[in-house]
This record gives sequence, structure tokens and C-alpha cells, in this order.
Amino acid sequence: MLNIVLFGPPGAGKGTQSERLIEKYGLTHLSTGDIFRANIKGETELGKLAKSYMDQGHLVPDSVTIDMLRAEVLKANSQAGYIFDGFPRTSAQATALDEFLTSIDTEISLMIALEVEENELKNRLLKRAEVSGRPDDADPAIIENRIAVYNKETAPVKSHYETQQKLISIDGIGTIDEITNRLFAAVDSRKS
Ligand code: AMP
Repeated sequence: MLNIVLFGPPGAGKGTQSERLIEKYGLTHLSTGDIFRANIKGETELGKLAKSYMDQGHLVPDSVTIDMLRAEVLKANSQAGYIFDGFPRTSAQATALDEFLTSIDTEISLMIALEVEENELKNRLLKRAEVSGRPDDADPAIIENRIAVYNKETAPVKSHYETQQKLISIDGIGTIDEITNRLFAAVDSRKS
């Protein structure tokens, strides 16, 4: 199995690049942000809870997010593997993911971190708001919050995978195709 954590700050291009990776490697895409948004749309209890955090640019609590992710993996039951997009976002989530994958006889193959500097992220998110309809993209104060949460709680997750020698950092500036080619090269360098 090929299990990839696609990592990076909000606006780094994780969603766009996930689509390319899925197509090439036949992986199952699990985006916790997308799953929360589907629950908000469906007006589920989980959606209502998640919305109260997401609207402020805060993280949904670990316990809720981890339980949801585990259920989604079991439901998808992929043979080829997964792209985890937007998860893990805290050290506790990273540890829980390792333990869970071990329990189903697999593991993370690699983490690819998309590196994009802050001003570029802010511009991309505001531009994305014009088409995404996401309230958390449209408000500069919420964007600031999301980037601050990323720097404080999520960026340390990189060292979790660095210690395991699974981290590959990629320059996330360039055309979509250029970045995709960097990602493919990173994956191919690790594929057994
Ligand atoms: P994203 O679509 O990845 O930008 O996520 C949008 C929002 O969903 C985030 O700002 C968080 O509020 C929430 N969210 C997504 N993934 C996670 C996660 N792994 N842990 C906690 N909150 C999350």
C-alpha cells in the first residue's frame, strides 16, 4: 500500500495536487476538511459541531476528528492506499494515525510537505474565496487565524515524520503542472 500524508498550510495546493496523485496512483482521497464540509451541508450533528470551529478558523477537537478519520478509512477499505489531506494537523492526530494504521497492518509511506510563503498563501486564499464559496477563505481575519493555528499546532507534525525519515519537502511555488511533477518524483523515489 502507498499511504501519503499531503501536508502544507492552508492555500498550499493540497486539494488540487491530491487530485493529480489519486489519478496517477489510484489512491483513495481522505480530506478531513471536505468530510466536515459534507457534514455541514447534510446538517448532521458532526457538521454542526465542526462548523462552530471552522467558521472561526480553529481546529475541530482531536477526539472528534480522529474518530471520524478512522471510520472513513474502515469504510473506504482501500487496497491501493490513501492520501491524507488536511490530516494529521496536530501531534496527537499523528500519533493516533500511526497507531491506527499499525492496527490494520499498514503505515504511512511518506509525508510530502508543500512549502509556500505566507503572503502568497493569503493571496491564494482570497482568490479561492471567489469560487469556493468557503466563508473561512473570504475573511482576512479568519485566514490569519488559520495560518496562526497552522504555525503553532500543525507545523510541528512535520518533525513527527522527519524523525521517521518519511518527510519530503517540495517547493509549492510554480505552475500546477510543475508542482505535480515534483510530487510525482517524490512519490516515485519512495515507492517500493
Ligand atoms: P481544510 O479544508 O483542510 O482547509 O480544513 C478546513 C477546516 O476544517 C480547518 O480550518 C479546520 O477547522 C477543520 N479541519 C480540517 N481538518 C482538520 C483536522 N485534521 N483537525 C482539526 N480540524 C480540521
